[in-house]
Amino acid sequence: MPPVIHHFADIDFDLPGKHHYQVAFHLDGTWGYSLVPLTVINGKRGANPNGVICFGGTHGNEYEGQVGLKRLACDVDPEQMAGRLVLMPQLSESACVSGTRTSPLDGVNMNRAFPGNPRGTVSSRIANFVKTCIFPLGRIVIDIHSGGMEGAFPHCTSFHPIPNPKQRAEIAKVSQLFDTGFALIYSSAMASGLLSDEAEAEGKVTIGSELGAGASTDRQGVRHAYEGTKNVLRHYGLLEGQIVKVRAAGSAPTRLIKADKLDAYVPAPADGVWEPVVQPGEAVQKGELLGRLHDFSDHSSPALEILAPRSGWVAMLHLAARPKKGQTLFVIAEEVEWSEVLG
Ligand SMILES: [Zn+2]
Repeated sequence: MPPVIHHFADIDFDLPGKHHYQVAFHLDGTWGYSLVPLTVINGKRGANPNGVICFGGTHGNEYEGQVGLKRLACDVDPEQMAGRLVLMPQLSESACVSGTRTSPLDGVNMNRAFPGNPRGTVSSRIANFVKTCIFPLGRIVIDIHSGGMEGAFPHCTSFHPIPNPKQRAEIAKVSQLFDTGFALIYSSAMASGLLSDEAEAEGKVTIGSELGAGASTDRQGVRHAYEGTKNVLRHYGLLEGQIVKVRAAGSAPTRLIKADKLDAYVPAPADGVWEPVVQPGEAVQKGELLGRLHDFSDHSSPALEILAPRSGWVAMLHLAARPKKGQTLFVIAEEVEWSEVLG
């Protein structure tokens, strides 16, 4: 079992080889700890300026990142690696243990907890540890998500609109290494306190993703997480070898789609039972039927038909059958040319 770390200063982040830790964050209301897994690999093939930092389990009911990064923690051989790789496969460890989006310890969504607070609740202290101790270790940050119980997405990498053209181009290039069907530019205005907000603001090459849904472990999603991250290591020369294709040979290049304005995130107009009639990743035309909302308080009432307000690609659909009024029901994203971000 990896050693328990009570004082962050006890971790030698420069120690050559592979080292597993359990970082102890004391509980807020009782004696005990959330023991957060951390693996630091310093390759023995020399230095590399492009340290890579990967997170899974930022939301506890999203498993592709947890599984993909745990496998990397076992598989990556420091003898074959240059530079540094940092893996945190269950960042919100308490949420992962309970299989929930937020931590049951403090009710906090880890992906809204940044930049954190060293005197805050357990999730806030973990966020502060990431910000102050982990982010300085690398310039590439990967945060692997999937829809959880919130939404169904096509397999995609994701990033915000980035004002700095050099940072934007590098993020766009790295997003392609995961070989997902889509890369999604999403709105910065939807939420704040994200891990990716913080990393982007520090100028890091920051990649988010949605690699599955429904609190399951998506087989192809794990492949994107595992092989995609290895492709990033190959791209920057931490590992040797060619970039590998993750999807089947002959699949279409990654499509770049954009939903950077809030009006693309359409709320359910009423409570109801949701019957989608399109799939995530499907192309739709303006006015096309996306699904029906059924009101069972009167089973003889006609369904409320939900129509596409614009043409584009279905980037997200509400997953659970019973959306509440105001919850995001769907996102239609527009396709854009890669040259818009690659320059
Ligand atoms: Zn998530």
